[in-house]
Amino acid sequence: MPMPDSNGTQSAPHACTAVTPASNATSVRTSAVSPEQEGAAPADRDAIVGVVQRYWGYSTLRPLQEQAIHASLWQRDSLVVLPTGGGKSLCYQVPPALLEATDVVVSPLISLMKDQVDGLRACGYAAAALYSGMAYPDVRAVEAQLLAGQLRLLFVAPERLLTPRFIELLQRTRVRAFAIDEAHCISHWGHDFRPEYRQLARLKDSFPTASLHAFTATATERVRADIVAQLGLRDPAVLVGGFDRPNLIYRIVPRIDAEDQALEVIRRRPGQAIIVYTISRKDAESMAAWLKQHGVRAAYYHAGMDAELRRKTQEQFASEDLDVIAATVAFGMGIDRSDVRCVIHAAMPKSIEHYQQETGRAGRDGLPAECILFYSAADAMRWESLLQRSAAESDSPEDTITPALELLSHMRRLCGSMRCRHRALSSYFGQELEAANCGACDVCLEEVDGLVDGTVTAQKVLSCVARTGERFGIEHICDVLLGAQSDRVRKWNHDQLSTYGLLKGTNRRDLNNVVYQLVDLGVLARTPGDRPVLQLNDLSWEVMRGRRPVQIKQVKESGLKTTVAEAESWEGIDRGLFDALRDLRRQIADERGVPAFVIFGDVTLRDMARARPASREAMLNVRGVGQKKLEDLGERFLDRMASYCAAHDLDLDVAAGTRPRRKAGARVSDAKRVAFEMFAAGKSFDEIGAAIDRRPGTLAEYLEEFLATNRPESIDPWVDRSIQAQVLEAARYAPEGRLKPIFQALGGRVPYEQIRFVIAWHGAA
Ligand code: ADP
Ligand code: ZN
Repeated sequence: MPMPDSNGTQSAPHACTAVTPASNATSVRTSAVSPEQEGAAPADRDAIVGVVQRYWGYSTLRPLQEQAIHASLWQRDSLVVLPTGGGKSLCYQVPPALLEATDVVVSPLISLMKDQVDGLRACGYAAAALYSGMAYPDVRAVEAQLLAGQLRLLFVAPERLLTPRFIELLQRTRVRAFAIDEAHCISHWGHDFRPEYRQLARLKDSFPTASLHAFTATATERVRADIVAQLGLRDPAVLVGGFDRPNLIYRIVPRIDAEDQALEVIRRRPGQAIIVYTISRKDAESMAAWLKQHGVRAAYYHAGMDAELRRKTQEQFASEDLDVIAATVAFGMGIDRSDVRCVIHAAMPKSIEHYQQETGRAGRDGLPAECILFYSAADAMRWESLLQRSAAESDSPEDTITPALELLSHMRRLCGSMRCRHRALSSYFGQELEAANCGACDVCLEEVDGLVDGTVTAQKVLSCVARTGERFGIEHICDVLLGAQSDRVRKWNHDQLSTYGLLKGTNRRDLNNVVYQLVDLGVLARTPGDRPVLQLNDLSWEVMRGRRPVQIKQVKESGLKTTVAEAESWEGIDRGLFDALRDLRRQIADERGVPAFVIFGDVTLRDMARARPASREAMLNVRGVGQKKLEDLGERFLDRMASYCAAHDLDLDVAAGTRPRRKAGARVSDAKRVAFEMFAAGKSFDEIGAAIDRRPGTLAEYLEEFLATNRPESIDPWVDRSIQAQVLEAARYAPEGRLKPIFQALGGRVPYEQIRFVIAWHGAA
């Protein structure tokens, strides 16, 4: 398991299979991405790392990033397949920055584009997006920037890209390269086909001199070949990274009660970002309601909600107002929160591709994360009937249903198997893993109790099916076996049968689960359709005659282990300090109305909490702190850290290899002490700012602390009287501790700082 060390360097997160041919037709040199590599490379490795360091504060490249960047620099078409979190974006962000060119990114979702643009701008990178629904003046402004050559990246939706107006615009700028994100959407062999992507096949014709670079996280051989063919890539460099995500721990456990089980997992991870995937919209809603009832900050998300509510929910999750989202497959592509620590599947997804993509949303920051799936054989049947129904509505039912059922059966096999999950997933995507024990799945961690002999129970179930004439569904069979007093049982005189009450005392959910397992094992049949009944087959009779033993999976009551990686990822970190930095991040994100990840990622906060930098230079060594962010945020974080460390008697500058240099005390207090004295004397911000070298944001934090701890007579020197009254009024209706609702209630007229002063002062009363 690769872990960031405290010097801010990082070992390779993904195995890499370098360059492989796209199809039998195209073969690719494995060593060189560029045609004539000797001599005049457009940029060497140092130049690339320099750009990465300047904008993003990373000092190493991840596997295949360099090759992918070279392909773009040389304008050689490419297909880059890297797992979610593998760092695809950097591959198309770096080249135009190096060459001071403007490249175009095609991206399927508006929300995804906007988040990316926000994130890039926060790093000082010139990017913009064009999408439908934008106000005309905004469109004009972006176009003007484009023509003036001020942009490094322009994001567009596929349907907009090929309008005559847009083609004309791009031709005037002589666009150099196109990056196509989520490129699998072009293939109907993929799991997320989007008709509007098909138009991209015309891209080569419209821009014959531009190079095309396709990016995706999931693609089997067939989808890869399809992408190359559809886009008409010419002799592309095909770069396929390892599919394995070693920082994810996979668990597939039998489902007893999805809501109970989900709650248990969530309680193990208080305050962490978690996604719960369900099959239906209704399930998502009831899961969210259940979690809320139990005090979890949760909401649901699905395609049946109106766009506004969906946007709001997504925003709340991004800004950490929500910890848990219960969602259908509709939730995903647009979320860019890289600190999702756990993805729960309340039921089995319909393909391994979906599973890989959904679990891929966990741990994109490279820190350990957990993926747990609650499986019941009933899931596959539910999908079958859903797929059949939706195929019936399509133009060519056969074409739709066959690939879908094939994908489903692979997923089902994965759930039923006792093979290492990491290996099973990788080998599905055509890669074999070496390690015998991954140390990060339920099978390798030996959490699965394994199989127990269930022959006798199976015989009881099967004979009950036989006695009742093979005409009833699961619920009724369980009723009879459990000795239930239902009307139906009495009506059919099933309480007179010898199998009545044969499994009395068994938990109904456990019994249900066993029956589904029997169906899954093929020793019991279930008719298709809306009212499925259980029937016997040849194998059933073998079991009943004692000629075929049956093994059943048992649920282990508890005992999920913490992996070594999980424990190590917190090593040397004061959790209180981490939380304090997280609070500050959230506060700044609120002030600026951007998602928290735009400020800093969790990796950065953990690195910071581990190294506790005391100076700007030391801060620059923290992974994820580039030049722009240092200017923008460095001081506030340095100050927060210094005051926390002073209060908790922690040393500063403890990065591995360097000795603690100074105690926190000295540096903070000088400036802060002066500020406090001046506050006490009722001096204005301007006066204080002139006296000590601190930025307004830092001064505001000092003042807030001063107000809360020293509680002066009044706050009139810093906040207008009438504003004080308005804030207090609005605060009466806002939930405890939240500033955003107050800010919104005041129509955004009162800056966050002022709201905080009022609240801090009153809170101290
Ligand atoms: P993908 O699009 O492949 O899912 P992203 O491009 O969103 O992945 O990258 C995932 C995370 O990894 C981001 O937070 C990104 O900033 C970070 N990252 C990318 N490249 C590097 C690198 N070379 N070193 C450290 N972190 C990186
Ligand atoms: Zn394993």
